[in-house]
Amino acid sequence: MKIRQALISLSDKRGALEFARGLAAQGVHLLSTGGTARLLRESGLSVTEIGDYTGFPEMLDGRVKTLHPKVHGGILARRDLPAHMDTLKTHGIPTIDLVCVNLYPFAATIAQPGVTLAEAIENIDIGGPAMLRSAAKNYTGVAVVTDPDDYPRLLSEMQHGDGELSLATRFALAKKAFVHTARYDGMIANWLTGLPENAEAPSGNPTETPATEVATTASSVPSRFPECLQLAFDRAEILRYGENAHQRAAFYRDATPLSSHSSHSGRTGGIAAYRQLQGKELSYNNIADADAAWECVKCFTTPACVIVKHANPCGVAIAGQLVQAYEKAFQTDPASAFGGILAFNGEVDLDVIDAINARKHFVEVLVAPAFTAEAKTALAAKTNLRVLTVPLPATHAGDTGHTLEFKRIGGGLLVQTADNFAVQASDLKCVTRRAPTAAQVEDLLFAERVARFVKSNAIVFCGNGMTLGVGAGQMSRVDSTRIAGIKARNAGLTLKGSVVASDAFFPFRDGIDTLAEAGAVAVIQPGGSVRDDEVIAAADEHGIAMVFTGIRHFRH
Ligand code: 5GP
Repeated sequence: MKIRQALISLSDKRGALEFARGLAAQGVHLLSTGGTARLLRESGLSVTEIGDYTGFPEMLDGRVKTLHPKVHGGILARRDLPAHMDTLKTHGIPTIDLVCVNLYPFAATIAQPGVTLAEAIENIDIGGPAMLRSAAKNYTGVAVVTDPDDYPRLLSEMQHGDGELSLATRFALAKKAFVHTARYDGMIANWLTGLPENAEAPSGNPTETPATEVATTASSVPSRFPECLQLAFDRAEILRYGENAHQRAAFYRDATPLSSHSSHSGRTGGIAAYRQLQGKELSYNNIADADAAWECVKCFTTPACVIVKHANPCGVAIAGQLVQAYEKAFQTDPASAFGGILAFNGEVDLDVIDAINARKHFVEVLVAPAFTAEAKTALAAKTNLRVLTVPLPATHAGDTGHTLEFKRIGGGLLVQTADNFAVQASDLKCVTRRAPTAAQVEDLLFAERVARFVKSNAIVFCGNGMTLGVGAGQMSRVDSTRIAGIKARNAGLTLKGSVVASDAFFPFRDGIDTLAEAGAVAVIQPGGSVRDDEVIAAADEHGIAMVFTGIRHFRH
């Protein structure tokens, strides 16, 4: 079916001129709305303005432009039904065979700091989505174009196809159009229902700047949880399989402002922004573990190394240089580090790669913000090793790359804001007779930071800027403590003089007794147990210094 008439109505006018020129060159008659028509006409193209076409002027500040039977009839009529075509004839309605529309920039509008509700409301496109949906529904007769990147390909197909686009192309375009409108409406619903209750209704002349700012929108995290959460992610890849070989899996990147801050743009430096430099295809588990490693390592401002196995850090260290941080992190648990995910928060140089090789350390994935040329050359020999770069965000000491976190449950979804609370020295309250030394405070804060990334119940022994024993994922805190001790012993490390972080309070004194027995001298924990007195007394009995943070870091 030959394309004879096209309606072009664009907010994002990128590539519009070339596309319109290409269409005109193939004899397509162009219809267009005000701003778009002006642009095309100024470039010498012959365009019929929509008001002249329908006999109704664009009205109400552009709220009504294309909402007219002559437009929607021309799009929606089924070309294969004589009755439909007769109806068009009766009313003098020509068909519109191609609709090229992108919508008012709602996302860009709400991303502006200090945007008002009235501004946002005026940027809700009405006629655009209606045309996209009409054209997409009637894809058997109409082509619907939403993406400027598609223009050249479509023109070329028309040139080679006698002015036609194939049914397959039109179907693909229709799917894309519904994704476009779904995402658009989802964004509006999330944003509006995420506003505080007292955000005022718009009033006055929409062209004047109203007084009420919607205070929450500088960040795209809603101040309330939206009533109906519309998530939008772009599929980045189909993965070979999921957590296990019989599970299918895909990797999606955040598409809308709600859940993203567009992590693939690198603004928050989440793992989804990775670039793979070399190595085998990433698996589902690789990506999940790389995320855990990256989120932890980017919390540190000094050179740091994190080794992750099955979503838990099995070695974390900070030092003057990355290579020293690696050596220390590896020592924590060499057995578990085998086949682990390795993350660094700075440029990886040849020294680091030499150290990994010297230890014959088999690594599944290596993540860092950058690699030196020498490091890249040395890595190239390990063809299987997956090497990723991820941009380090400007302010990274505390925030995770997630604004909201999701946990799928049977028949629903649990949503929470991310655990972005980074405890500082000023948050600490000493509750024991003995106070930690300055060096111990440093190690306590380090341990606390690591514990945030260890599955609960988390017990982390540390000393001299490195983990000495990590007890993770146990149902009892005292078992986590015992396991951390066993692991330190297995690695040939002493816990004598160590410090300990616990992700949550100690419910009984037995946890303190166990870690004192292991040789710990200082403890950091949130406090808040009904038996805090008993726990503090135990610490005093053992001569241990203990500080409370008031902040729990459960992680499941
Ligand atoms: P232009 O810059 O050409 O004046 O306007 C283009 C924009 O108007 C496009 O984003 C298109 O989706 C939108 N648009 C087209 N028809 C209507 C309508 O009837 N109502 C509203 N609110 N927007 C429309």
